[in-house]
Amino acid sequence: MPERQKIALVGIGKIAVDQHVPALAASPEWELAATVSRAGTVDGVEAFTDIDTMLAARPDIGMVSLALPPVPRFAYAQAALRAGCHVMLEKPPGATLAEIHALEALADAQGVTLYTTWHSRMAHAVAPAKAWLADKAITRAHITWREDVRKWHPGQDWVFEPGGMGVFDPGINALSILTEILPAPVHLQSAELEFPANRQTPIAARLQFTGHVTADFDWRQTGPQTWDIEIDTSAGRMALRMGGNVLELDGQSAQGENTIMDEYPALYARMAELVAKGQSEVDLAPMVHVADAMTLGRRIEAGAFNF
Ligand code: NAP
Repeated sequence: MPERQKIALVGIGKIAVDQHVPALAASPEWELAATVSRAGTVDGVEAFTDIDTMLAARPDIGMVSLALPPVPRFAYAQAALRAGCHVMLEKPPGATLAEIHALEALADAQGVTLYTTWHSRMAHAVAPAKAWLADKAITRAHITWREDVRKWHPGQDWVFEPGGMGVFDPGINALSILTEILPAPVHLQSAELEFPANRQTPIAARLQFTGHVTADFDWRQTGPQTWDIEIDTSAGRMALRMGGNVLELDGQSAQGENTIMDEYPALYARMAELVAKGQSEVDLAPMVHVADAMTLGRRIEAGAFNF
């Protein structure tokens, strides 16, 4: 087996522990060689609390994966790119579109890879759904993405701070699938956003796109969680369930596997492929829809929200 390439993982929080660390432990391409986190560590891995110190101390590390929330991420990405490292960004890739354009230009100038990951696009049924839709006429599509913020973001006040994106933090996963599988792009026409009285970002959103495409995002769903995309076509109904992992055609399960545990290994494999080819992959289409919703959305006040 060829020697694994060394990487540093930055931001040892919920998603790092749930997904990145297990994916890296099993990766044939990458070896977790350092972490950067103000508080978190990974057993047996050299830990730094500051990115500049890590970059100076470990010139043998050629790739940095950023699992921080979007707002602090830009400065870390810039430092890593300036040091000549390849960089992989959690979703959403940043707090604004312009900062990702700046990172893309910097990566180009440095001759390194920048990868804006969208983990939901790696869900088992997304590629089969895209292939099935490719030659169909779509008459209507509806996304239902309803989950419990207390379960998935326990105590994470940053999701309700400016740049935290509120319910679009999960909703952008649905939009990453939509923008991947639709044969032709759509754009936002109107939106309603529910903001808790004591918060800066929406807790629910209803979106209307061209082409009879609609979305319902809500972060107040307890009990079973819903991550569905239903699409009516001239050849019948297709549904993606379980966040893109299960494909249904006319009510019958057709393909997929009900687990999200393969998404992050697939992201790291894709990163290895991009680095080997000397390419970047920067797709901001899901984030454009969120920015448009924030620009065009009608604001509705909802009850105060506390964790
Ligand atoms: P998190 O646990 O709140 O934060 C991750 C880590 O980032 C924290 O442990 C913290 O490490 C560091 N951090 C937080 N604020 C920081 C700041 N201002 N400056 C520097 N470091 C800071 O968040 P998360 O749930 O892992 O989410 C991180 C990213 O992963 C988000 O973009 C999210 O959309 C994405 N994601 C999350 C989930 C999920 O289920 N939660 C799923 C998929 C993707 P230290 O304090 O130790 O430095």
